[in-house]
Amino acid sequence: MEINRPIHRIKLEELNNLWVKREDLSDPFISGNKWRKLKYIVEKAKSLKKNHLVTFGGAHSNHLLATAAAASRNGFQSTAFVRGEKLTNEMLFLCELFGMELRFTDRESYRDKQLLYNRHFANNPSSYFIDEGGASEEAVKGCAEIIDELDQHYDHIFCCAGTGTTAAGLLRGIHKHNLSTKLHVISALKGGEFLREEISKYEKNLEALILHTDYHFGGYAKTKPELLQFIKQFVASTGILIDPVYTGKMFFAIHQLANCGKLNFDDKILALHTGGIFGLFGMQEKFNELII
Ligand SMILES: *Cc1c(COP(=O)(O)O)cnc(C)c1O
Repeated sequence: MEINRPIHRIKLEELNNLWVKREDLSDPFISGNKWRKLKYIVEKAKSLKKNHLVTFGGAHSNHLLATAAAASRNGFQSTAFVRGEKLTNEMLFLCELFGMELRFTDRESYRDKQLLYNRHFANNPSSYFIDEGGASEEAVKGCAEIIDELDQHYDHIFCCAGTGTTAAGLLRGIHKHNLSTKLHVISALKGGEFLREEISKYEKNLEALILHTDYHFGGYAKTKPELLQFIKQFVASTGILIDPVYTGKMFFAIHQLANCGKLNFDDKILALHTGGIFGLFGMQEKFNELII
């Protein structure tokens, strides 16, 4: 099946040469980078004759929804260990519609995923372990293909990061094609310095990497009125939905870096829209507070 992920040019204040690769358009549910990450994971599970994907995530995880959708389309069962108390929300509702079994897990047990998996699935020969966020060599391989598809040179490529797996894949692609492109990675989490080590597990050479750790807005899934205000304006003026958990932080960073002279207005910049717009649902109240 042909999948279309066009590159759109957008106007963000003075930036004249800003482009967005619309990975978010690959699929409504297997969204953005999750599509890339799951591609070879699903392929490997199939080749090992597995039929049950088991994974891990928080209650608003884009990865859970993507895995649930990918599992059902490929004839797999799926189970997710969901961090924290039993609850329901739009994301988990969709996961269950796709047939995913949810097992709510207290934070202490959730910490050691391999142990959790072994405890429940050790005797199940058809189950397949997928780490939180899909972090794996297969995911890196899938994400590197984003760079294979580019037919123009960019001075800078931007992406946002949770586990850093997507960033590692992009870096791999940049090396493979011998590009002089700088890879800017915006940490969605507080204390994002850890990403350097995570990325280097897959790609040793970090010369092209510029890690930005000051755009987390308080931490993962935390936000501030300034970010929500920026998102409102961005969505209304570009027609592209972005969310406060990931891509909103990335576009905010691009905007700030340009305003403080760290990017030139004519630099050719590619921002990767990694999807995840359902992240907006968890933030609806915060947006409402803003309007009042
Ligand atoms: C999961 C996710 C990320 C983080 O990707 P990593 O490979 O874990 O760094 C970024 N953006 C969106 C929209 C996501 O859903």
